[in-house]
Amino acid sequence: GRPGCECNRCFSGPDCSVRKPNCTADVASGDPLFLEPYWVRHAASSAVVISGWHRMSYTTTDRLYQSVELENHIRRLHRAVGNAVDGDKHIVFGTGSMQLVNALVHALSPDANAGSPPARVVATAPYYPNYRKQTVMFDGREYTWGGTTAGWAVNNASRNSTSTTGGGGLFIELVTSPNNPDALLHKPVLHGSAVISDRAYYWPHFTHIPEPADEDVMLFTMSKLTGHAGSRFGWALIRDARVAKRAYDYLEQTSYGVSRDTQLRMLGIVKIVLANLNVVDKDIFAFGHDVMRTRWRRLNAAVSRSRRFSLQKIRPQYCTYFKRLKPEPGNVSGDETAYAWVECEEEEDQDCYEALLKENIITRSGVRNEASSRYTRMSLLKSDDDFDVLMERVTELVNAEKYDA
Ligand code: PMP
Repeated sequence: GRPGCECNRCFSGPDCSVRKPNCTADVASGDPLFLEPYWVRHAASSAVVISGWHRMSYTTTDRLYQSVELENHIRRLHRAVGNAVDGDKHIVFGTGSMQLVNALVHALSPDANAGSPPARVVATAPYYPNYRKQTVMFDGREYTWGGTTAGWAVNNASRNSTSTTGGGGLFIELVTSPNNPDALLHKPVLHGSAVISDRAYYWPHFTHIPEPADEDVMLFTMSKLTGHAGSRFGWALIRDARVAKRAYDYLEQTSYGVSRDTQLRMLGIVKIVLANLNVVDKDIFAFGHDVMRTRWRRLNAAVSRSRRFSLQKIRPQYCTYFKRLKPEPGNVSGDETAYAWVECEEEEDQDCYEALLKENIITRSGVRNEASSRYTRMSLLKSDDDFDVLMERVTELVNAEKYDA
């Protein structure tokens, strides 16, 4: 247990070490508390004190909503990790990458006043469902939700490259790489679409880094990088100055930019990440990767004995950050990724979410990602306690399977 904190709902006792029997495992959300122990270890150095008179103005002394120092530290981090080319890009901050998704959809949409038809916002299934929910909510003159790319790929193949901006209207394609939920590295599928590349999970604790990403519009978030989801901080790297300006204007019009308290705290956090990079026992990616690898080993060891459930397989590839193959060859499948994309193999388990719910495991149905109900997502990002409870339930259900046979 953590000093001074409430126990996880499956634990009790003075130090939260007493397990409540048969507690339901909840691995639905992507809440990244697996990194909390890292920050407990670095509690003093990462603390930020903000006096009452600090950061009161709407803007910096240069009348900016964004801290230039934070921007420079983010650029240093991308260079040190080697996961994105930043030199030729503008940075726009957002209240989480969630706000930036809409800012960028707006920024890439044609000017509604010029009489252009609305852009169609699309994604390839299985995709992150909030893209759809958010776009449908704001749907209007500038853009509409266009569904999955599968519905457009055939039409699109017969177009020439200029016609995507012509009579048929523009496509804005949301590409998540590595993908949430299945962790594959995705590329755009529609020819000539404007692409928003969501790189939330493109950090060495979740994937191998084959090369720095260099797309026109890329999205990152502290939520998955350092685990500070509640601070609500994300940023976009944008090549085109006009697109960056439109995104920045969106931020100005919706919220006058990101909370300056948050920016100050994020600067402190990024400084600690940078100072400890490649330092033995202190590198956040080495820490995060170890947690993920250990969790995957345990989950795989249990699920590999099951005939009912299987996990996605990820082939080992060279990681430029750790300078070796990830996952290690001969090691388990599906190593290290943020989510387990579970497939139900048996005829009677048509609805994989329901099948696991009966075993007291709460997951997220693949139906939400417009995938088959045979799939469901387990988050491996939550706290150690949540993962331990998951392992108990999974082990029980796999053991029960064996006794049935
Ligand atoms: N994109 C993807 C692919 C995500 O998985 C998430 C969070 N689960 C987000 C964006 C939003 O993250 P945030 O708003 O916390 O930055």
